[in-house]
Amino acid sequence: MSEFQGIHEECGVFGLFSNNQTDAAGMAYYCLYALQHRGQESCGIVVNHDGLFYSHKDLGLVSEVFVPETMQKLPQGKIAVAHCRYGTTGGTNRANCQPLEVNHIKGKLALAHNGNLSNAFELRQELEMGGAIFHSTSDTETIAYIVTQKRIHSASIEEAVLEAMKELEGAYSLVMMSPTKLLAARDPHGFRPLCYGRTEDGIYVVASESCALQSVGAKLVRDIEPGELVVFSDQGVQSLKQQVGTKERTNCIFEYIYFARPDSVLDKISVHAARKRAGAVLYERDTYDADAVIGVPDSGLDAAMGYSEAATRAGKKQIPYNLGFIKNKYIGRTFISPGQDNRVSQVHIKLNPIEEEVRGKRIILVDDSIVRGTTCAQIVKLLRDAGAKEIHMRISSPPFMNPCYYGTDVDSRENLIACKHSVEEIAEIIGADSLMYLPLEALPVLCGHDQICTACFSGKYPTRIPTDTRKDRFETPLSQSEKGAKGKGQQE
Ligand code: SF4
Repeated sequence: MSEFQGIHEECGVFGLFSNNQTDAAGMAYYCLYALQHRGQESCGIVVNHDGLFYSHKDLGLVSEVFVPETMQKLPQGKIAVAHCRYGTTGGTNRANCQPLEVNHIKGKLALAHNGNLSNAFELRQELEMGGAIFHSTSDTETIAYIVTQKRIHSASIEEAVLEAMKELEGAYSLVMMSPTKLLAARDPHGFRPLCYGRTEDGIYVVASESCALQSVGAKLVRDIEPGELVVFSDQGVQSLKQQVGTKERTNCIFEYIYFARPDSVLDKISVHAARKRAGAVLYERDTYDADAVIGVPDSGLDAAMGYSEAATRAGKKQIPYNLGFIKNKYIGRTFISPGQDNRVSQVHIKLNPIEEEVRGKRIILVDDSIVRGTTCAQIVKLLRDAGAKEIHMRISSPPFMNPCYYGTDVDSRENLIACKHSVEEIAEIIGADSLMYLPLEALPVLCGHDQICTACFSGKYPTRIPTDTRKDRFETPLSQSEKGAKGKGQQE
């Protein structure tokens, strides 16, 4: 449901290294297409042909930005980086499109970033005080500045990146390209995923998620370790681990619950299997009997399946997994006339219940999360109108209580319904007969270990909280009163 509620991942990143000239842009296109769920506001590809960079970036979906005429203009190359973006920091404008390209005294660099730094504000202020001029309002330009600064005094680009990693705090999965190398780095906490694979003919592909590798026929080799820098060059693949283990590993648990595609494997854990385990936990804790389990498309489906399978395994009573909704696959960016807002439910345009599957039944309705509650209420109403007898809402994550500072737009507390209402009150607000969330202590069950970030649920942040957490923090300076409030230890 988060897709309807407006929770977004920030970005998807891609990199390619081949020993021979290849259709790098074409492979980047297909990988970005597979990563489109991670960012739909802008996208870009930079191809390296004999050390020269050729790029195209714009606002829009991959299919809108990379039309055939544009693709034809990008040459073959041995290295490429690409990016799709939903901006959690910085506005939606062309200056914030990635990959970012910089020219420095020792060459060129193109850089694509997923995540948010928790010390971006301080780093940028320091650079600006030293005379740096920024063109964009995203954290990524700060990273590019620091890497290029380090490059001046380093013997190689990899040495410069390792030095820069010592200064960066927070979430970053980075893919970078120099005239001769592809570099992929992941922050020591490992918030955002990053992996690489290889095609049969020896092309290396780096991507945010393994589903992108498969889309170009590459087999997953392995995840990039938290804190690791992997360098792909004519000399082969080199792993540099100076930053590995310098911080506590905290993979984002919400990648498994909602952000990642269910056919991806993140840090050796299948997203589909993790979601099914969440559904099983919900079943094990449930006290209601039901006639069918339905998942809200798409991110509630796997957990609903897991719920039903757990019921079968328990052998008490089978609760069949039913297809309760049809999702309109062609919804795209549907124009909703402002005047129609009150009469036509936006959710109804995207989802339609199958009456035969719900009429007269007691339904367990499974979804990944509740943010404000408005979308959830509309979905419950759709089922009621289709004749459901009882609707028991089950959520495959704990209640959202805190904002995320690591590259997603899980909202500020005033917009999170669970910060203002009890579970019983929320059930009433959304119109469900009962409501149950996944308990906080069950989160490690999803991925089989407890080295996870749960901050948006638990409030336990693995890093210090950023000084300024506003989305437009690099566009609008803090007022004096806001500065005062921050100084008094306010959390946001
Ligand atoms: Fe993921 Fe939530 Fe942590 Fe953000 S705060 S990284 S969404 S678990």
